[in-house]
Amino acid sequence: MTTIQNHLDFAADNLASVSDSPRLDAEVLLAFVLAKNRSYLRAWNDKKLDVPIISHFESLISQRLDGVPIAYLTGTREFWSREFIVSPDVLIPRPDTELLIELCLAQIPEDSPFKILDLGTGSGAIVVTLAAERPNAKVFAVDASFAALEIAQKNAHFHECQNVEFILSDWFSAVPEIEFDLIVSNPPYISAEDEHLSQGDVRFEPKTALIAAENGLRDIKVIATEAKNYLKPHGQLWFEHGYNQAEDVQHILTELNYFEVQTYHDLAGQPRVTTGKFTQHSFGIKNVDVGRVAA
Ligand code: GLN
Repeated sequence: MTTIQNHLDFAADNLASVSDSPRLDAEVLLAFVLAKNRSYLRAWNDKKLDVPIISHFESLISQRLDGVPIAYLTGTREFWSREFIVSPDVLIPRPDTELLIELCLAQIPEDSPFKILDLGTGSGAIVVTLAAERPNAKVFAVDASFAALEIAQKNAHFHECQNVEFILSDWFSAVPEIEFDLIVSNPPYISAEDEHLSQGDVRFEPKTALIAAENGLRDIKVIATEAKNYLKPHGQLWFEHGYNQAEDVQHILTELNYFEVQTYHDLAGQPRVTTGKFTQHSFGIKNVDVGRVAA
């Protein structure tokens, strides 16, 4: 029987060909199999492992060698310091999306029943985080995938959020007539031709959650167009988008008469989140053709 240390060394050597973080991957997977944290592995590095543990670990390593993301192997990923259940039915929550959370939380009062809609909920990372951080808000989660909504519901339950309602809907098609204070979305925004779809973890993620027509902008356009009917006066729309889409998203929002359109950068310095506000009133003003009225 070989020790924890031996198994980790061997696995990390193998994983070096497929992963940027082979040692970390090996540790995370062995800790998962042992149901311990990673510090246990260091404290007990001379410990010998039992055969069932070894075979479970080896099966995970072999899946990792095939490229399967760590989060799908362990079934969880941390986001905003909470653990989220994930499966291949949902995108793996990204650190980039924490920017969207930070910006939205700054807009949501702690003590009012702010109404929030999250479109394309997936794992529920956004909706559950907002609901947990703002228990007085009334939050609605929409996804067109039943399997995704099941995961999001589990996460809401796991984090004891009682203020989330789940709606199976293709964008707004089944959303009740509610006026929201804030609509947020991390929609599919990658172009089908993007080479990044054939690299790394993304290969294993649901394509419907990643790819959008019209150079990745189709769903953003649909949401921005329809959101106007569901926003309170001065209600806010918030999008996460691709690093190279800020100008396009700003253009879409401005053309649709959103105002105070602004883009924010993520920790990697990429433009990642764009927001705008909408009021039916501003729609009217912008469309007055002053020349013709005067004549
Ligand atoms: N940010 C993700 C990526 O680049 C894509 C997420 C999305 O399409 N909503 O892989």
